[in-house]
Amino acid sequence: MTRSRGEKFYVIHSKAEERRNEFIGKPKPGITICPECRAVFFEKHWHHADAAPYRRADTKGKEVHYARCPACKMAKDHTYGGLLKITGVPAAQESEMMNLILNFVNRAYKRNCQHRLLRFRRVGRRGAYTFEFSDNQLAVRLARALQKRFKKVAVTVRYPHEPLKVSEVTLSFS
Ligand SMILES: [Zn+2]
Repeated sequence: MTRSRGEKFYVIHSKAEERRNEFIGKPKPGITICPECRAVFFEKHWHHADAAPYRRADTKGKEVHYARCPACKMAKDHTYGGLLKITGVPAAQESEMMNLILNFVNRAYKRNCQHRLLRFRRVGRRGAYTFEFSDNQLAVRLARALQKRFKKVAVTVRYPHEPLKVSEVTLSFS
């Protein structure tokens, strides 16, 4: 299925109306579609493109807008809502840890299209990684899940950019 800006439900706004909606954070009326991931904003939340409520929603006659969703915006701007730094992963536990992380990330995304792992990379020495998430609590919850599985790890959680709720979580294997 392809959708384009020229689709039949697209309605051009009047200039005055566009101006009223221009300030940041003001949701536009109707439906907004993210051109990157196809997530759909309606009823105050972003939903997966194939979300049941979207299929049920009657799009006929509604205005359709195109704008990046917050998670895609973060990916593009290289920002994040939560950072998890992991150090000292024993080689023997690395693949188990990565599997747990991938499963966690997949489940989180299935539940909420805005909950994503944006980037991850291996850092310098062996057994060190950073993971950047779209949501601050994802980093915290993942660290707790890893702690439960691997026992001998220390976790610290900080919010160093207050009032921004950006989390920075460190997890070190002992
Ligand atoms: Zn998106």
